[in-house]
Formats: sequence, C-alpha cells, structure tokens
Amino acid sequence: MSTDSTPLQSSAVINEAVQTLRDGGLVAFPTETVYGLGADARNPEAINKIFSTKGRPANHPLIVHLAAPDKFDQTQVDWVPLVAPWVRDLSEDALKLVNAFWPGPLTLVFKKDKSVLNKLTGGQDTVAIRAPAHPMAQELLRKFKGGVVAPSANRFGKVSPTSAADVRNEFEDILDLMILDGGDCELGIESTIIDMSSGDKAILLRPGVITPKEIFAKTGIKVYQAGETKHERHELALPRVSGSLRAHYAPNTPLRLYAPGRVLDALSEFPDTKSRVAVAVWDSESSLSEDGHPSVHFEEVEVPSDSSGFANRLYRSLRDLDQQGWDLILFPEPPPGEEWDGVRDRLQRACFGSGPSSSSQDSN
Ligand code: AMP
Ligand code: MG
Repeated sequence: MSTDSTPLQSSAVINEAVQTLRDGGLVAFPTETVYGLGADARNPEAINKIFSTKGRPANHPLIVHLAAPDKFDQTQVDWVPLVAPWVRDLSEDALKLVNAFWPGPLTLVFKKDKSVLNKLTGGQDTVAIRAPAHPMAQELLRKFKGGVVAPSANRFGKVSPTSAADVRNEFEDILDLMILDGGDCELGIESTIIDMSSGDKAILLRPGVITPKEIFAKTGIKVYQAGETKHERHELALPRVSGSLRAHYAPNTPLRLYAPGRVLDALSEFPDTKSRVAVAVWDSESSLSEDGHPSVHFEEVEVPSDSSGFANRLYRSLRDLDQQGWDLILFPEPPPGEEWDGVRDRLQRACFGSGPSSSSQDSN
C-alpha cells in the first residue's frame, strides 16, 4: 500500500460509498490484504448480490469487517461492544488475539449470534470477523456504522485484486460498480484465519502474513494446524474456507512450480514444447541457463526473495503475466518455513486451478 502514495479519496466519495452500502449496493474498497467487494452484512439482498456477482457458491461463508473503535487508542481500546452483536461468546483467548492483532490481517471465527444471517455464514453456526487496518477501509466502516461483508473483489476462484485497476478489470462488465481507490495493497495476500469457535483451541484455517509463531510470541496462545486436534476433524469435509479448495487464486495461463535449479524438470510436464515461458526467479539469484533447450524461449521475471516482499508481488505478478500471453508461467517453490506458508498455500492452489479451462473450483 504505500500509505504515502495512497490517492486521497475525498470524504464526499466515501460518503457516497456509505450511501451505496446503506441502499443495499456493492462497493469495492482497499484493505491492507487485498481489495474487498463490500456489502451490508445485515442486508440479505445485498449478500445475494455478492454471491451472484462473484459467482461464489452459496455454502462459502463471508467475513464480516468491522471498524475499530472511534477514538482508536491502543492502550484503552475496548473491542467487546463492537464484536458482541455478532458472536455468541468471546473467550478470553479470542479477546487476547483481538487486542493483539486488530485492526490487522487476522480473521477470527466465532460461534455466531442468532441475528447473523445464515446466508452470510453459508449455513454454518459460526461467523468470521476481522477489522482491516487500511485507513480508507476504516473510514468507510466507521461512517457506515455496521458490519460489511467483503470477500476478495474477484470472480470466484480467480486471482485476488491488489489494486483498484485490478478490480475494474475483473468486473469490466459492471460499469456502475463503485470502486474506492486506496492504492496498492501493502500485504498482498488474504488474512490469516484462526478458528476460535471450539471454545478452547485456536485452529489455523488459512495461513497468512500473521504466523502461529508470531501469535504465540505476542499472546502465548498455541495455534494448532487444521486436523491436528480431534474434535474439529469431522468438519474438515465442509468448505468452511473457500480458499481451502485445491483450485483457487488461479490465472488463465498454466502455472507450475519448480524446485531450486530444476526449471527444465518442470517443463517436462509439457512435452509439446512450449515456445514462450515466463520464469520467475528470486531476485537474490543469478540468471538461469537454458542449456539444451534452444527451442524454448525463457523470459525471466525477478521476484522478491523475502516472504513479505514476495507476498506483496504475488498476485500482481500473476495478473500481469497472465495478460502477457505466455504459454506457461513457472514460479520457484517457496522455501520451507512458516513465514512462507501463506504464499506457498496460495501458489499451490493457483497452480492447481490454472489454465484456460480452470473451471475446476469444485474439484476440491
Ligand atoms: P475471501 O473469499 O477471500 O474473502 O475469503 C474469506 C474466507 O473466510 C473464505 O475462505 C471463507 O470461507 C472464510 N470464512 C468465512 N466465514 C467462515 C466461517 N464461519 N468458518 C470458517 N471460515 C470462514
Ligand atoms: Mg477470495
């Protein structure tokens, strides 16, 4: 995001966006993770519009976005009255996480209050909530004075948008879609999701920039991997998190990963020699050699070799490369380590769903 280069969106524009939400319309807006497609979380018709616009299956729940308390002061902030209308119970641990990471890229799943619309939660008894840190998202939410559902502003299964222009490209045909421009997203991948609905254990549903290690360091709370504890195992078959589908975040161009130094191996999956291949290489490494494959034209694209820099560029690179007409895109396998889990997860799903006939979202 580069808060310094954030285009100033005037109050009048934000007020218009608030009115659009109140009228049951959709507003795309920036967050620090990716751009969201927002709608009033208490309005069933508005929620229907989100599902139909994205082409999202009805059983894929949405995240409710909340404003931080008015006079935001880290030392005295009281989140309880803001969260209470949405949840059935707020455990001590959940409150610790809220206090440590909100506003920020951490989504928490709670048992839902009965007033929360079933269509918002995909029929589940739980609700996912977060408070985004982006100043424009905060201003919009504060003025709206309510919860806003905001899945990523892209068609279901496709690459998430990290700029206002990406959102415009994604929904070209919806000429009157209101899009707030807050510049490029700072983090570039979706929030970490932790399930707190079991009451005792914190369970990682989607990795993101905030890692279990960081959560433990700041709060002393141990985060379990999904499937690591017994009681939530029966629920794993449900599509609780749409990003958990094997195919997601996918470009139209075939995308594959290569192991360190093994670009040519990755190509062997494509025996009808591809003539134009874009190869992402770590900016810390020297160029590839094309030994023995004169027929293949490689073009190298540098990608940051630190995990947060890489996350920041991931969807941008995928979108840009997708528009350049390559036959194949190769990305380096992210190295081991928790800080890479978020991007590894997104890249693997992007590979699985990539290619011109990537209607494989239901191939979970
Ligand atoms: P996005 O579509 O990028 O906004 O992703 C939002 C994610 O939050 C989706 O993958 C949702 O499935 C997930 N989510 C929302 N509500 C819940 C819930 N009650 N339990 C588990 N995951 C949820
Ligand atoms: Mg999404």
